[in-house]
Amino acid sequence: MRKFAALILFNCILCFNAYSQADKQYYVTAYKEQLQMLTGQKPVSFKRSVFLTENAFYSNKLSYQAFCQDVSNISVQLKAMIKAKGIGKYKTAPNWATFYFMTDTIPANNFRPFTYDFEDFTGSKDWSKMFVTKLLKTHSGNCHSLPYLYKILCEEIGGTAYLAFAPNHCYIKHMGENGQWTNKMVDLNGMDGEVSGSGTKKDPYVIKANYYYVNGSLSDKQVTALNDGVASYNKMGGKDGVEIKNADGTKSYVKYSLSASGVKDAQAAKDAAYGDKFTDKGGTERFFGNIVGEGASGSGGDYGSATNRNVNFNNANIKDGIDNKGMNESRLLEGIVIHEIGHNLGGEHSDGTSTMSQITTNNIVRDIGPSSSYISYPGTSKDFTKIIFDRRDTRMQDPNARVLQPGLYTKQ
Ligand SMILES: [Zn+2]
Repeated sequence: MRKFAALILFNCILCFNAYSQADKQYYVTAYKEQLQMLTGQKPVSFKRSVFLTENAFYSNKLSYQAFCQDVSNISVQLKAMIKAKGIGKYKTAPNWATFYFMTDTIPANNFRPFTYDFEDFTGSKDWSKMFVTKLLKTHSGNCHSLPYLYKILCEEIGGTAYLAFAPNHCYIKHMGENGQWTNKMVDLNGMDGEVSGSGTKKDPYVIKANYYYVNGSLSDKQVTALNDGVASYNKMGGKDGVEIKNADGTKSYVKYSLSASGVKDAQAAKDAAYGDKFTDKGGTERFFGNIVGEGASGSGGDYGSATNRNVNFNNANIKDGIDNKGMNESRLLEGIVIHEIGHNLGGEHSDGTSTMSQITTNNIVRDIGPSSSYISYPGTSKDFTKIIFDRRDTRMQDPNARVLQPGLYTKQ
């Protein structure tokens, strides 16, 4: 019960903080019902509680019946998956089914896994990005909505899942078959870079990741930008690679070996991306293949986005940037490629590198002469290389990293 209490309050506090100006009455009503759950006057329902909070944000305009129907439609699929696999006797079967339904590209989810939306993942521009109701609609969510939906679905079919909180962080815990607690990152797979080599000048570390696109799905300029962006990484540091100073004063050399290639159709892209895997030194299977395509992240102003196995160009915003904001098309496209690959290899916006900075217009005001503006586009950099490299193999423990935590992992 204490866990539920904390959870429900967490839910409320999030919304009150962000929307103190909103009509408080909706929140008061939602809170009263949640309080009834906490005081035993009503049965505790995590599903209902999440709905109440989100509904208050939307001024009580959502339908609980429709929400329950969405959840129930998925639970039918989950039960069928468990039956087909013949694992109904295991108490973690609901966890398995929910996880695969949410993360894999399978007929049960109409080949639409739920993905992590990298841009505006804190919901600072659009608070509804935190919501399960949004996730159900768009299949893209963040470290708040993904674990919430996981818990709701899992419980819907009789499983158990607990949410665990760390700073800026929320993930799922469940009891394994052996009775031990298991942490589950809801969107674990995809988007990592493989590190091999020993780091000497003769045998530098090599960062490997592959990018596939379906022939004809990108414009010629996007294909050129993809190749140029990849080349920009690969040629960093010249023939020896990027020289990095280690904490103990020694030097390491790091080279990039990224590739971009066109394949015949979506299935071939998926086969290629899912086929690029390796085992890291901690024994976890990781993937370094990615699919490049087109699509909007759903967060408004972004030119590109990255989800758990995809890098996308947002064509509508790119057009707007070129037509209305004076952006240079080839520099913008290449900048998007460099930035999204940067996410892929473990870069964060907060790193302060040119690779991970977002595209911005800078105004210069001169005392004498006309003021002007220039646009800065992301580029590759040595600083970026040092940061992601120093972060290798530690992403799972980094409390400030996002739940998806793509990054570099050393090959076993
Ligand atoms: Zn970004």
